[in-house]
Amino acid sequence: MKVTIVGCSGSFPGPDSPASCYLVEADGFRMLLDFGGGSLGALQRHIGLYDVDAICLSHLHADHCLDMCGYHVARTYGPAAPYPLVPVYAPADAPRRLSAAYGMPDEPGMETAFQFVPLAPGSFEIGPFTLTAGLVNHPVEAYGFRVSDGTRSVAYSGDTGESAELVKLAAGADLMLCEASFVEGPDLPPDLHLTGRQAAEHADRADVGRLVLTHLVPWNDQRTVLEQATGAGFAGPVELARSGAVYDLA
Ligand SMILES: [Zn+2]
Ligand SMILES: [Zn+2]
Repeated sequence: MKVTIVGCSGSFPGPDSPASCYLVEADGFRMLLDFGGGSLGALQRHIGLYDVDAICLSHLHADHCLDMCGYHVARTYGPAAPYPLVPVYAPADAPRRLSAAYGMPDEPGMETAFQFVPLAPGSFEIGPFTLTAGLVNHPVEAYGFRVSDGTRSVAYSGDTGESAELVKLAAGADLMLCEASFVEGPDLPPDLHLTGRQAAEHADRADVGRLVLTHLVPWNDQRTVLEQATGAGFAGPVELARSGAVYDLA
């Protein structure tokens, strides 16, 4: 199982990274976790434009899903269209929200390219993976994910404030991609995002193998985010996500 960070910039793209998008591969099957702004471009450095087998959207904030618009065009009008429909696991409102974002009628909307499957908490099979979705702590319907290929596993926080569900999802995972949008400070809004320290505390409670801090917001000093995480008691390796980084969990 291989995890590639396509985009790790928090809330909007940064100079060195698109917004949220992670490519998870096993047995030749390629699945995206989130599809934020700019990630469709960077994705093509790693796989072919038409090589995506499934897409999971953690929530419908723009920085996690807007490149569905461009990918819809690629799959609906590309030279070998029609292409097989890509299953898209997403909050139930995704078809309507994404057609509105593109500026198209709801019927047929993006169903010329995608087959939408409404997410609910629980586990199900996608290709060679078992995906477990759990509701995390964010102002909209938002999921954290755990993806396992039967041997290795990766946990992804999506966007969340402090969340016991995230600790459950990540329990014992080889790799945890955990958001660290905030720098510690007074008056941080609750139930929205995590600091580096809080990300490390979740990783410690879940006893994961490796913590990668992601959803890094460009206005923060990322050295501070990393320092606050490394001082928080998690014993395993901690690093900042970087667009293009590959984690081979085999
Ligand atoms: Zn976000
Ligand atoms: Zn969000």
